[in-house]
Amino acid sequence: MNTIWHEVPPLSTAPLLPQTRHRVHTAVIGAGLTGLSAAYHLLAQPREVIVLEAKEIGAGASTSSTGMLTPGIAQNLLALIRQVGRAKAQRLYQQTLQAVQYVVTLLTQEQIDCQLQLSGQLIVAQGKSGRHRLAAQAQAFEQLALPCQPLDTASLWQRIRLREIPAGPEQLPAALYLPLAGSLHPGLLVQGLAQAVQTRDGKIYSHTPVVQIGNQRPAVLSLANGSEVIADQVILATGGYTPQLGIFRGRIFPVQLQALATEPLAAETLAHLGWSGRECITDSRRLFNYFRLTADNRIVFGGGWPTYDQSTVNTTDLISRLNRTFPVDVTVAMIWRGVIDYVLDTLPIITRLRTHPAVIFVGGWCGHGIALSIAAGAWVAHLSMQGTWPTYAPQFRQQPPLLPTEWARQLGFWAGIQLMSWLDNIS
Ligand SMILES: Cc1cc2nc3c(=O)[nH]c(=O)nc-3n(C[C@H](O)[C@H](O)[C@H](O)COP(=O)(O)OP(=O)(O)OC[C@H]3O[C@@H](n4cnc5c(N)ncnc54)[C@H](O)[C@@H]3O)c2cc1C
Repeated sequence: MNTIWHEVPPLSTAPLLPQTRHRVHTAVIGAGLTGLSAAYHLLAQPREVIVLEAKEIGAGASTSSTGMLTPGIAQNLLALIRQVGRAKAQRLYQQTLQAVQYVVTLLTQEQIDCQLQLSGQLIVAQGKSGRHRLAAQAQAFEQLALPCQPLDTASLWQRIRLREIPAGPEQLPAALYLPLAGSLHPGLLVQGLAQAVQTRDGKIYSHTPVVQIGNQRPAVLSLANGSEVIADQVILATGGYTPQLGIFRGRIFPVQLQALATEPLAAETLAHLGWSGRECITDSRRLFNYFRLTADNRIVFGGGWPTYDQSTVNTTDLISRLNRTFPVDVTVAMIWRGVIDYVLDTLPIITRLRTHPAVIFVGGWCGHGIALSIAAGAWVAHLSMQGTWPTYAPQFRQQPPLLPTEWARQLGFWAGIQLMSWLDNIS
């Protein structure tokens, strides 16, 4: 599906020849940010690493995103604390900050110009309950000594003038400002990472879907074109498509998210909005929206109503949310969707598969993967080369939770979204 990021054509690479047999050290499945970063870092040592991609390079979520490079994990910091406790939440959140910083360092080191702007992130309250939620979050940030600046209405309005002033008591924050965050061009990022893989002599084969992964060691990968790849090690970086390979079915949910881009804003429209700091913005709802400005002054706006394993999305809902957010007329130029790897407990998964001992799965980013997917490439390379998990990297858990039967998954997802929407509406 085309997005505005496809103005940068994907690097063109050839498919692996049909009916052939190959022996390699490492095969990476999936050429999104996760797979490309894993390949890049593994290639720091001399070894044969190939990347097998079903479609074009970056064809999955990686070029469908809104391109916000932000810290954080799970629904929000309070949810993370409830889930894993304060000490672990602090550690995990700090590791996401390090992941953002690592991306910045890597882009500089590899001279990848993907229009990165480290503009910070605003989380804007929606209504009175939004202010209460942000106040509780601000307190958690402060107690865990994590960077966050609460803003009152006047300070928010100096940064951006949205349609509605967050209602509620003025002593509670109208927004939170997170300083270490920014936005970038996902198409240029994918292209730059793919070039860096090639510079290190890695081979990327596009239009080469893997249809089966053997459970022996070395693993035998069967490709759709009749070829076979035998690999000592496999990095599975297939995001929301993973259950199609029969792996983590019922544990990873292919969830469709949507985003749109407006036509470039006129100078006077932009002046009316303020937004001179060009911050990435998220709202405080459970079914939240997120948005940023591109280098050519388009608004890229995502979020809202997700769907489970369906190809249709609610474009009317997204456009009406856009119009409710901005006090100016904007024209929608393009709308698209992408599939993410959602996990019930919203924590990522980096694990060697019990069923396939040669395979390490990396993903479960739950729609929040730009920083972590790239940083995870370095962690996985360390695991592969040293045989141990790096002490500086996050410890998640072995298996994501299971929701058995397709019926339960459909119903569970539908009920969860309805509940979040209802809670947002009543508050
Ligand atoms: C609308 C939207 C907005 C988003 N906004 C943000 C944001 O602002 N900030 C943020 O941090 N994150 C955001 N995300 C999430 C982010 O894009 C992802 O977390 C990240 O790109 C995941 O990268 P990935 O490489 O793990 O997965 P993907 O990019 O999906 O890559 C998986 C790749 O595997 C390939 N593949 C699948 N099956 C096979 C197979 N059998 N054989 C070979 N190849 C296969 C696919 O074709 C695909 O290219 C957003 C996602 C969407 C959809």
